[in-house]
Amino acid sequence: MPERFRILSADARTILSRTSGFIAAAGFTHSLTPARNCTFACTYCYVPTMRLQGGLQPEDWRRWGQFTTFKDNAAALLARALRPAQRIYCSPTVDPYQPAEAIEPHMPALLDALIAHPPAVVALQTRAILILRDLPRLIELARRTTLRVSFSLTTNRDEIRRLYEPHCDPFEARLDAIVRLRAAGLLVHATLAPILPCHPEPFTQAALDATTEALIADPFHARSTKPRGATTRPESEAISRRHGFLEWHDPTFQSTILERMAHVAARAGRPFAAGPAGFAWLAQPVATPSSPHSAPLS
Ligand code: SF4
Repeated sequence: MPERFRILSADARTILSRTSGFIAAAGFTHSLTPARNCTFACTYCYVPTMRLQGGLQPEDWRRWGQFTTFKDNAAALLARALRPAQRIYCSPTVDPYQPAEAIEPHMPALLDALIAHPPAVVALQTRAILILRDLPRLIELARRTTLRVSFSLTTNRDEIRRLYEPHCDPFEARLDAIVRLRAAGLLVHATLAPILPCHPEPFTQAALDATTEALIADPFHARSTKPRGATTRPESEAISRRHGFLEWHDPTFQSTILERMAHVAARAGRPFAAGPAGFAWLAQPVATPSSPHSAPLS
């Protein structure tokens, strides 16, 4: 069967960008973006709405998810750009474990660079069970610095996932991946983002059961409350309209869902926050990372 997307490559001038907006407010100093355009092609993705500001070219936002352009020289650039104080978020504009990464692996070389020159914090944002492929490297990186995996969960209803993000892994497979990452000793946050139509209480409980770290949430970004900047892609709103889910884009309705989720988390005694306040947990270094450099000398 022909692939539904194309893979391109190009050399980049830089690999780490100084952060701004949402990610800077969360406390990250830099973002690491291994490719331009994301072959998950989620219907709600805010990235194509960022256009030039997101480092995209017109073809990217016109044909979002139909191709990706890997930065061929990313690992060499990264090795030169890494500094010990950096807090790095990977990535605000592409899933590092997008489907194209399964065909052309670029993350192993990037993880090797991070292992060789560890910054203060690395947060990997993904919704892909493909991350398990790199488990040995992730374990090694976590020995050298604070590594946080932020695993996106969007709904506990698989028929809803198929509507809005048909190329993403099912909920149960993602939960299983979280449990396996945790079993390997990694810090894993469940990030309920964007919150798609779901059963809020059992959805939140399943995320709490799979993790031990603080729970993060973020609803659809509504244009009515966010007149400028990145916002939820109109394709998802069209799906919501067709299927009777438009209220999930309404800030008042979203607040009631967040309150219900917060209630479940509070009952379990677990921290829960939405937006930059939640993402700020991902930027926090662990006080005593199990770094080989901090091990007592024998
Ligand atoms: S995985 Fe993230 S970056 Fe990729 S299309 Fe989906 S929302 Fe956008």
